[in-house]
Amino acid sequence: MDNNKQECELICGKCQVPLQMEKVEFNYMNHQFRHDFPRCPVCGQVYIMEEIVNGKMKEVETALEDK
Ligand SMILES: [Zn+2]
Repeated sequence: MDNNKQECELICGKCQVPLQMEKVEFNYMNHQFRHDFPRCPVCGQVYIMEEIVNGKMKEVETALEDK
């Protein structure tokens, strides 16, 4: 196995397959975001990482404060 590619190391607990990065849309405070999240190609389970969501929330909050 070569580890040259930077891949998501998450594995679906149900299907035991590596998750693939996929664009997922989500909403927060009436703002729509698009971000790559790891998703199971078999069952479609999306793993939304809290760090990313929190980061996006901060962006929104900053934008709201700035106006
Ligand atoms: Zn799965």
